[in-house]
Amino acid sequence: MIILKFGGTSVGTTDAIRRVVQIVAAARERSPIVVVSATAGTTDAIIRAARRAEAGDLAGAQSELAEIARRHQNLVADLLGVKGAAVLREIADLTERVEALLSSVAILRELTRRSLDAIASYGERISAPIVAAALDDAGTRAEALSAEGIIVTDERFGEAAPLSTETRERAAKQLTPRLGYGVVPVLTGFIAATREGVTTTLGRGGSDYSASILAAALGAEEVLIYTDVNGIMSADPRSVPGARPLERVSYEEAQELSFFGAKVIHPRTVLPAIEARIPVRILNTFDASFAGTTITSEAEATDGSIVKATTSLGGLGLITVEGAGMSGVPGMAARVFDTVAADGVSVLMISQSSSEHNICFVVGAEHTARIIRDLERAFAAELGRHDVGRVYAEQPVAIVAAVGEGMKGTPGVAARVFSALGRMKINVVAIAQGSSELNISLVVEEAQRDAAVRAIHEEFHGRSARAAAAS
Ligand code: ADP
Ligand code: ASP
Ligand code: MG
Repeated sequence: MIILKFGGTSVGTTDAIRRVVQIVAAARERSPIVVVSATAGTTDAIIRAARRAEAGDLAGAQSELAEIARRHQNLVADLLGVKGAAVLREIADLTERVEALLSSVAILRELTRRSLDAIASYGERISAPIVAAALDDAGTRAEALSAEGIIVTDERFGEAAPLSTETRERAAKQLTPRLGYGVVPVLTGFIAATREGVTTTLGRGGSDYSASILAAALGAEEVLIYTDVNGIMSADPRSVPGARPLERVSYEEAQELSFFGAKVIHPRTVLPAIEARIPVRILNTFDASFAGTTITSEAEATDGSIVKATTSLGGLGLITVEGAGMSGVPGMAARVFDTVAADGVSVLMISQSSSEHNICFVVGAEHTARIIRDLERAFAAELGRHDVGRVYAEQPVAIVAAVGEGMKGTPGVAARVFSALGRMKINVVAIAQGSSELNISLVVEEAQRDAAVRAIHEEFHGRSARAAAAS
């Protein structure tokens, strides 16, 4: 049995869905289970609608919702013609339910994470029946199912974590018999439910994670993630035109790459796969001629390269706590990070000067004002005594990361990274290297983000790098 996951662009147009139908039909012998995302742009649009409702603009929220519904109705009409009547009814019912949710948000002027999950789930709820109907219409028996009945999570709305025992039981009960009858289950990605059946989501981009959770629960042979690029590439092809697809990437490399911005897979996707030793492949829905990328164990992913890929993550703020009286005082870092944790904010990168005169860390730019206020409160006494000189933020900044198992034990990688940036006159604001030596990450001003990625990419993957390797 295999899991096939199709992303937003792969289910976003009539043409794309026709390709999906061909791919699934060709995999029939391998007992496929299909996981689908919302169509491209839909989750963003529905979240926008929820925010408008929260601000009291119900009419705006309704028109946003109506636009999404209309787009999907057109898709059904194009794909299925009169045979789409049942799917259209289902879309109308789901739309009515979400409209009611938006109205309550607008009345209360309050959007909790729990309500947001209920609303954000709309995109996958309407894409799954469309894909299932298209498969059925082309002669592949299929049934759309909400993953709410299958993937069980904790109650961390917006970023829920799966409960593996419950999920395993439900997946076996719901999916195995259907496969036995020759039916292809088409599941909603991204969404799940608590033990009590309350809708949760797995975080933005979480349909990839849904696929690997199901694969581990059912002991699948493989997870195939179909997207709109030729696999994981040496950089985001949207910002680096010379980016090349990678044949093999280790689980750890994939995790680091996606954590630092390679949106091509959700950062948690590899976790269930590692435990169950299930290979994950990234393939292009629109170009079957590419073998894509296989994510596998470190031993199988070694290819002699030093840096496999360069990624970046923008919209961040770098907060610095500095002061001459900080050095040699135990517990300073703990107090800083306790304060950040109490704000419920996750830290993406940490760096401390060896003199211990300052600690700096990176968080989402939207959190910096609150964190600075809370740090100033927590260190009021030290600030009064001038042991801590100041707490300040630099933003917007971006993290740029060079990732590769080949960096371990290879001397001079950092020097090459910094000379490449220096040649392009890119100022590095802060640096960190994971103790795993799998990545070097650095902070640059947001405006220099793309130039920094291109400079590092050129150093390790560009024409000059290839010429140096050949000589
Ligand atoms: P899907 O909807 O199929 O899940 P996403 O938009 O979430 O697709 O992810 C695919 C996109 O990820 C690509 O279109 C590409 O622009 C972006 N991306 C960023 N970094 C990388 C990378 N290193 N390799 C491949 N794609 C990347
Ligand atoms: N539709 C969800 C999102 O846009 C999940 C996904 O696409 O994987 O975040
Ligand atoms: Mg995605």
